[in-house]
Amino acid sequence: MSNSFQILAIDGGAGTGKSTTASILADRLHLLHVDTGSHYRSITKYLTENEISPDSVQRFLAESSPSLSSQIEGNRSLLSVDGHIYPPASLRTKEVNHFVSHVASVAEVRTLLFDYQRGQIETAKENSFSGLVMEGRDIGTVILPDADLKIFLVADQKIRESRRQSDGEVDKISSRDFLDTSRSIAPLKESEGSLRIDTSQFSIEDVYAAIANKIGMG
Ligand code: C5P
Repeated sequence: MSNSFQILAIDGGAGTGKSTTASILADRLHLLHVDTGSHYRSITKYLTENEISPDSVQRFLAESSPSLSSQIEGNRSLLSVDGHIYPPASLRTKEVNHFVSHVASVAEVRTLLFDYQRGQIETAKENSFSGLVMEGRDIGTVILPDADLKIFLVADQKIRESRRQSDGEVDKISSRDFLDTSRSIAPLKESEGSLRIDTSQFSIEDVYAAIANKIGMG
């Protein structure tokens, strides 16, 4: 088993199994788990609470940028926006699902999160984790292009939709996918050199084994 600090990047569309995969990796390999989708959701929630529409986000952030910090709970790193951590259920409402991809396409929002997300490597080291697993849309392409392993998850559309429905969510994943893959800034795409896994064809144990083998932890 290697002693070096491991950095794993996971990207993929909604419902492809990123969180399940990142959770099992974090639990078994003692990694800090960073879910960047929750960062965009928290910013969206913060903006809607302040009654800022996606159209006026740019102007709002130019005038007053919220302060961002991390709180570690177990092996998860939670984003605090101006001292406020939103409960997970409040980040998965119909309203947040509807607005989040619009907010995520604003350059100022991505700039605000870039340093914070890169800084999670230091946060993981300071908290004595053996590495970091970060999931999102642009982790392998933009945030952690030098990760030890980049993983790109895909899954059958019907399976992805049924996963979200069984989570009890109202979420139009095809329209989010369209916005996330077609935006001009940091679009969702497979990073060169990624390990591509179709999670509709494998169990979570198979997915874990494929990744663990690849990083010499199998
Ligand atoms: O992963 P999750 O479905 O929670 O992500 C919510 C939204 O946040 C995505 O649909 C996308 O618009 C945005 N996002 C992003 N870049 C990331 C992670 C999420 O643009 N790295």
